[in-house]
Formats: sequence, C-alpha cells, structure tokens
Amino acid sequence: MRRTAVVIGGGSTGAATAHDLALRGLKVILVERGEIASGTTGRSHCLLHSGGRYAVTDQESAIECIQENMILRKILPGCLELNDGLFVALDERDLEFKPLFLEGCAACGIPAEEIPVKEVLRREPHLNPAVKAAIRVPDGVFEPFRLCLSYLATAKRNGAEVRTFTEVVEILRDNSAVTGVRVRDHRRETTEDIGADIVVNAAGPWCGRVAAMAGVEVPIQPTPGVMVAMDQRLVNMVINRLNKPSDGDIIVPQRQTSIIGTTSWVVKDPDLIEIPQDHVDLMLQKGQELVPDVRHARTRGIFAVARPLIAKGAALNGREVSRTFECFDHARDGVENFVTISGGKTTSARAMAEKVSDVICNKLGIDVPCRTREVVLASYREFF
Ligand SMILES: Cc1cc2nc3c(=O)[nH]c(=O)nc-3n(C[C@H](O)[C@H](O)[C@H](O)COP(=O)(O)OP(=O)(O)OC[C@H]3O[C@@H](n4cnc5c(N)ncnc54)[C@H](O)[C@@H]3O)c2cc1C
Repeated sequence: MRRTAVVIGGGSTGAATAHDLALRGLKVILVERGEIASGTTGRSHCLLHSGGRYAVTDQESAIECIQENMILRKILPGCLELNDGLFVALDERDLEFKPLFLEGCAACGIPAEEIPVKEVLRREPHLNPAVKAAIRVPDGVFEPFRLCLSYLATAKRNGAEVRTFTEVVEILRDNSAVTGVRVRDHRRETTEDIGADIVVNAAGPWCGRVAAMAGVEVPIQPTPGVMVAMDQRLVNMVINRLNKPSDGDIIVPQRQTSIIGTTSWVVKDPDLIEIPQDHVDLMLQKGQELVPDVRHARTRGIFAVARPLIAKGAALNGREVSRTFECFDHARDGVENFVTISGGKTTSARAMAEKVSDVICNKLGIDVPCRTREVVLASYREFF
C-alpha cells in the first residue's frame, strides 16, 4: 500500500523533500501556510554557494556546498545564473588570509583560481581599484521561487499534492504516535484533518514552533540577517571579501540589483524581526568598501529574514553556528512518525531532502534508493 507523507513548509527544504519522497513512491501532501517560498527561502541572498565562504571556518559545510552546487548545475536548468564569484583582498589582513583560503578550497574540492588584478578590474570596473588580489570560485545566483517550483512541479508529476495558504495548527497523535495534521485553509476558511503515515517538519525557522505542537523540542536558533538591495547591477560576479565570514562582506548581483549582506543575530520569534538601523548603515558602509559606487546607487529595498540554524551546546553568536544541517527522528523523544529536517541552506536543500527521505524510508520499510542527483527537474512553469 502507498504510504502517505505530509510535509510541512513550502521553502526549499520542504519542496526538495516533497520531490524526493514522491520519487520514492510515497503519496506526498505538502502544506504551506503562505505562498511557496514565502519564508526564509524567498528572501535570502540567493547565492548558489561554491563553499568558498566556509572553506576555512566550516569545512563540512563548504564540502556540502560545492557538491550540491555541481549537482544543481545539472538538475536545475532555468533557475541559475552561473556567473562565478570573486574573493577580493583589499588590505594586508586580507592578503594574509589568501594562503589559508586557497588551502581551504583545495581541501574541500572547490576550484579556485587567482586572477590578475588588471584582468579583474577590466571585468568588474566598479570594484574598488585598491584591490590587491582576487580569486575566482564557482559561485552563482539562484531564483528562489523558481527553484522551489521546479522541485514541486516534479513532485506533482509524481503524484504529490501542494496546498498553499494551508497552515498546520495541530499535530494529531494517537498516544505516542503522530497520525496526521489538522490544517486551517486560509482561503476557504475551513479546518480539516489530514491523516499520514509520516509527518515531516520542514518549517525552517518555525520548526521549533511546529515541533512543540507534537510535544517535542528541536534546537533551532532563528538567526536573522539584514540585506540591502541597491537599484543597479554594479557587479557581474558575486563579490566576496577575502577573509573569514563577517558582516557586510558580500555583494550578490540579482537581475538589475546588487544586494549587500549580511548580518547575524539571534531572535526568539522569526515572525517578529525588527531591522536595526545600524545594521543597514553597516551594509552601506561595508558595501562601499567593496564597490565604491554603492554610494551613488539608490536603496531599493531593505529586508531581513531568519536562518534556521542548529544550535549545539551553549548559546552561540550566529556567526559561530555551523551552516550544516541535521535530521531529527523524534522517535528518540518518544514520538513516532514525526521527523524534523532543518539547518543548511537552499544550496544544500537536495542533500537535506535525501537525508530525511532516507530516514523516512528506513522507518517505513521502503527500499527505494534516492535518485535526486540524476533526475533533471521539471520547468517551474509546469507547476501552474
Ligand atoms: C540573511 C540570509 C541569507 C541567506 N543567504 C543564502 C544564500 O545566499 N544561499 C543559500 O543557499 N542559502 C542562504 N540562506 C539560507 C537559506 O535561505 C535557508 O537555509 C533556507 O531558505 C531554509 O529553507 P527552509 O525551507 O528550511 O525554510 P523556509 O524557507 O523558511 O520554509 C519554511 C516554510 O514553512 C512555513 N511554515 C511555518 N510554519 C508553518 C505551519 N504551521 N504550517 C504550514 N507551513 C508553515 C513557512 O511559511 C515557510 O514558508 C540565507 C539565510 C538568511 C537568513
């Protein structure tokens, strides 16, 4: 008999999970309280990570990034801008970091090539002319809405059902086993119960709130970052500062805008994020260090959204928390048929989906291997 999975959350994690589970033959129902990608996924920096950013400080995450980056290039046509990225040194401290960076990239399998400064300034005329060195890596940019829709269009081909504006308001239980979810359909203004053999919590920074409905805890630390979008495309490649990740050290070109980011602090409620003005000022100041013409561009938008980071051990500042992901099988908390998948990045959503789907198939006795590395995704247009 076909087993039923309810996936909670229509961000990159939930969308990729719906795709993987549908491909393995489960009947999938994905429920999202808003529109697809209306949570963190739709408002991130949209960098297709090469892993360069974490090559020195968080190598587990860096390896994940480069591996997934290469897979997404094959399976996700039409959603990526493969424009590469530069890590640029602007002062002596950055130059001292260069050998560490190159060693880190080599250790993680990230192609990294030094480009002569003259050539870099020819390609990126708005870059700070004081640039002392530049290293090219295979960064890129993704379109988050299309990315999620591509996963979901493919899931729908395989029989999945996607219900937007449908919020999980209760996790249904029969003693220690989860049996489904109670949802509120905000369009029809109705409430109904959906039965399931397994419920997947892919609610991003809201994972903790959803887990609490089932009476369990997950160590998710909602960690927002501020981004400032300028109204011009000032660079063609993704521009990173050649140093450890810090505030305001990256500019991502997205269509005709340049997005400067980001910061990192911890909040209790991902629905209540106040944007501190000093973070915005810092983005503008740091952005100008990389690209001086930021000062002549107009601010088109300022936004902030929370990363669903996994806090291990004592409370840490957001920058110290690893960007890798984890799957929690809540059977170990005494609640069966309920799993949480969180942490990670949109770049690593496919790998996150593979991990949680492996756990689910193992639990349900389904012996079907993961095929998401090879299956080319449907066009996002097919979703509608
Ligand atoms: C500032 C910032 C910059 C980032 N930049 C990048 C980047 O450049 N590249 C990259 O790869 N990653 C980046 N990330 C990380 C990436 O955005 C996240 O890891 C990823 O989007 C998380 O996806 P998700 O699906 O787990 O969560 P979300 O996208 O938040 O999806 C969870 C969904 O669950 C829904 N939901 C919540 N509660 C319920 C409920 N009760 N019922 C139904 N639905 C519910 C929400 O509405 C939401 O849509 C960035 C993150 C931040 C904060």
